[in-house]
This record gives sequence, C-alpha cells and structure tokens, in this order.
Amino acid sequence: MPSSQLDSLLGAIPAPPTEKPVILRVTGSAESKLRRGHPWLFAEQIRSESRPGKPGDLGVVFDRKRNFLAIGLYDPLSPIRLRVLRARRSGPVDQALFDERFAAALERRAPLLDTETDAYRMVHGESDELPGFIADRYGDSAVVKLYSHAWVPWLGSALTALMANQPLQRIVLRLSRQLSEQPEALAGLSDGQLLLGQLPGEPLTYSENGLRFEVDLVRGQKTGSFLDQRDNRARIEQLSRGKTVLNVFSYTGGFSLYAARGGARSVTSVDQSGPALAASERNFALNLSDDNVAAAQHQTLEGDAFAVLRDLAQQGQTFDLIIVDPPAFARRRSQVEGALHAYGRLAGLALSLLKPGGQLLLASCTKPVDAETFRATVCDAARRAGRPLREIEATGHALDHPTDFAESAYLKGLFATA
Ligand code: SAH
Repeated sequence: MPSSQLDSLLGAIPAPPTEKPVILRVTGSAESKLRRGHPWLFAEQIRSESRPGKPGDLGVVFDRKRNFLAIGLYDPLSPIRLRVLRARRSGPVDQALFDERFAAALERRAPLLDTETDAYRMVHGESDELPGFIADRYGDSAVVKLYSHAWVPWLGSALTALMANQPLQRIVLRLSRQLSEQPEALAGLSDGQLLLGQLPGEPLTYSENGLRFEVDLVRGQKTGSFLDQRDNRARIEQLSRGKTVLNVFSYTGGFSLYAARGGARSVTSVDQSGPALAASERNFALNLSDDNVAAAQHQTLEGDAFAVLRDLAQQGQTFDLIIVDPPAFARRRSQVEGALHAYGRLAGLALSLLKPGGQLLLASCTKPVDAETFRATVCDAARRAGRPLREIEATGHALDHPTDFAESAYLKGLFATA
C-alpha cells in the first residue's frame, strides 16, 4: 500500500478473514441460478449454513452432489446473503483475483480514453465480477461506493488493486443507504470519508467528451455525477442545432451543456435543487471558450418539475427539444404503480410543451420498471394526450456501465418525435 494515510486507515478495519468459508446448502432453484452465473444468493434461498458468518467472510456453495457451485462474500446484514466472486470453477479469493478483476474492468473502458473523457465508471459491481463494489473516476480522483458490509475487510485489497491499475491523487468513500443505516458494522468508515489524499480548496473538475464539469465527490448525488447518461447527452448534442431546449431534472446541467455546445439557441434547466442549478451556471461558465456555449442563452428554473412544467404550459411556452431525466421513482415492486403513473404524467406534461414535430428524450433509472413497461407507459400517455410518439429509438447502458444480468439493467432512454 503506497500511502501511510491508507495504512493507518486500513489498520483500523478488520483484516480479510482467515477462517474457513461458511459452507452453504441452497434450494434447487438457487442452484440452477448460480449455475447460470447469477451473482446473488438471497437469504431465503439458503437451506443450511456450516456456521454463523460475519460480514466479509467467504461463503461457498456446493450442490446436492457436493460439486462446487460458487464462492463469494458473505453478508449477514443484507438480504443478498452472498455476492459471488467465482462461479462454476473454484479458485482462491486473494489479491491476485482482485488485481485481475480490476485490470480487466479498466481494459473494458479503454475506448473511452480516446474521447476527451476522464470521468467514467471504472468498476461496475456485479457486471465487472466485483459484486457490490463501484468505483468512478473523475480526473485524478476516484469515488469508491460500497453496497455491502462484506467489502469492509476487503477494502484494502480492493484499493490496492484499484491503485495498481490507475494513478490516483485522492479517493473518497461513499456508502449505500443500507450501509449508512448500519454504521456499527463499518469499523468507523463513513460516507464521504477521504481514504487517500486531500480535497483541494476549489471544486474538482473533470472532462466529458471535452466539456468541463465541476463535481462534489463528498456530497454530490450518486458518486457526484450521473456518468451513466453520457451517451444520451452526446445524442442530445447532435439534435440541438438552432433549437429551444428544455432540460427537466437537470441536476448540474449535463444535458444542458451538451445542448448548448450542439448549437441550441436557448436552454432552460429545471430542478428542485438550488445548489444543483447554481452548479449548472458555473458549468456553463467553465465552457465559455466554446462559441456555441457562449452564444446559447441559459436560464434556470428552481422548483418541483411537475409544477414548473404546468406553469410553463399555462404561460403558453413551447420548446423544440425536451429532456426528462427524473430520479428513480420506485425501489420496490409495491411502488411501481406510482412510478408508472408519474412517468405517464411527465410524458403528458412534456408533450404539452413540445412544438409539433419536436423531439423528446424520456429517461427512467427506476430498477423495478423494465424497458418494455416504461415504453408502453409513455406511449399510452402520449396517445391519450393526442400526440403519439414516432421514430422511437430506445437506448440503454454505456460501455462503462455494462449489464450482464437482468437486475443490473436499470437505465432506459426513449428518443421520440411527436
Ligand atoms: N439529468 C441529470 C441527472 C438527473 S438526476 C444529468 O444528466 O446529470 C435527478 C435530478 O432530479 C436531481 O438533480 C434532483 O435534484 C432532481 N429532482 C428530484 N425530484 C425533483 C422534482 N420533483 N422536481 C424537480 N427536480 C427534482
């Protein structure tokens, strides 16, 4: 470990376990899922355990014929009791495994380095075979986000592998809500904690396709930015020449900046967060060397998107291009109906502001809403509004947010004309 700061930090958290793995017997359907490569084993799929396990213990699953099925990180605090590191073929869980997985993850992102982009997801959890572990790069900084207490004793191994593959000045730790709610199992780690380096006095900045953005790694939403929408932002740039653009749920102005650089006449950013809108103004200021950004008129409207859209419609305002990229509306199945209702309402409101023949991007990052249901919901709402959607293009995940099992595909984008 190259830094004494990290040494002292890691000295305070538990070391990787030395005990034998917890041996798990599981249901027949769980066996088939693991055999197909699914990375999770849920608590209710477990029939017996050889001993009670601690977060970060290794858990190993054998099938009824005592053949090896999977080994992974055991977490008694999560309904996802085991996150699989190796399936089908047995092997050690050690530094070499982490080094190999992090190197492979970075290799997958290599094409991004040719695009004036130095902010991207370096490690996307399950889809990079590092389940429950996220690392986003922002220039020479990284944000590590953990989704399971099982990573706490393995954090040193993970950071060693991360830093071996990528020179970094600073690393910030972020924790999922579930982890923050159970701080007693975190060995003193906390959300927003600096794991390596110092934070500079001025805001950190990064480049995305040549546009500059500032980012707050400690308090920002997600890991500071919504890197997952990069490709959709680039598509919006291509559609923006000469247009009046409305960006709803604009956060720090990502889509707005791309629209401006693409030659939009005016861009209106709507968000309920004053600090996010203020950051979007600063992000415009960071990019004034681009003639199109300098020429575009940018205005911000602070408030609840539903109310702001209704007000704009009452004022008779219209736009050529509208982006609607709301936060997730549901975490559980029981909330899906409400989420679909909200998507329908947003589609109707956006269409009431769209010039005839205008273009729309409607996005959803709600995990329990699948792509087909999302599409059907907004198409229905559009038909009811008398503005059926045409020339629809559906988009999904960018190269640095790979998805290789159903639960990991959360991002849905629909580009349409109406
Ligand atoms: N499109 C953005 C990401 C949007 S994240 C990008 O590309 O970076 C969702 C945003 O919605 C957040 O900024 C949050 O502040 C905002 N938000 C959440 N609920 C809202 C509401 N009811 N009205 C307006 N904004 C809302």
